[in-house]
Amino acid sequence: MAVGILALQGAFEEHGKMLDRLGAEHFEIRQLKDLDRQLDGLILPGGESTVMGKLLMDLGLFEPILEKIKNGLPTFGTCAGLILLAENVQGGKPCFASMDISVKRNAYGRQLGSFHTDKEFKGIGRIPMTFIRAPYIESAGNKADVLAEVDGHIVAARQDNQLVTAFHPELCDDLSVHKYFLEMIKCR
Ligand code: GLN
Repeated sequence: MAVGILALQGAFEEHGKMLDRLGAEHFEIRQLKDLDRQLDGLILPGGESTVMGKLLMDLGLFEPILEKIKNGLPTFGTCAGLILLAENVQGGKPCFASMDISVKRNAYGRQLGSFHTDKEFKGIGRIPMTFIRAPYIESAGNKADVLAEVDGHIVAARQDNQLVTAFHPELCDDLSVHKYFLEMIKCR
């Protein structure tokens, strides 16, 4: 099993470290030829969704990645990665628009929007959650399953092969969300 991590910008290295700790093989996706490798799962990291969206287009990665997501490739988007997958983006432009959710960018404010909490994640239990200039999901359509909420806002959801978190599990010590994602790959 090999997980590709989109490595154009943002917090991609941290995801690699989590996968190392779980013994899962991974590699970075920086250009089109990286998609020639065996790819069983994809991580879209946190960072700046507008910058990543533009680079995906400029590098010709947008279409082939969208096709893979639509064909059922297990995909995990954190923070900016969540925004890239959302069908509707308040305060920004949709990118892959493959997930039936509406998100609000920088929903907690631009500067003071970083915080940490512990909350329940469906199927896992209580886990630590770190938010950095995070979006939240304003509404999730019928196809999406809500997995976690903080203060009445949806912060994690899943729709078939797509998993998203508004927080950064890769910045905590807790491996459970990455483990959950690896299970999604194994059960495909
Ligand atoms: N605010 C960023 C955006 O809109 C997301 C922040 C993050 O990924 N930590 O893309």
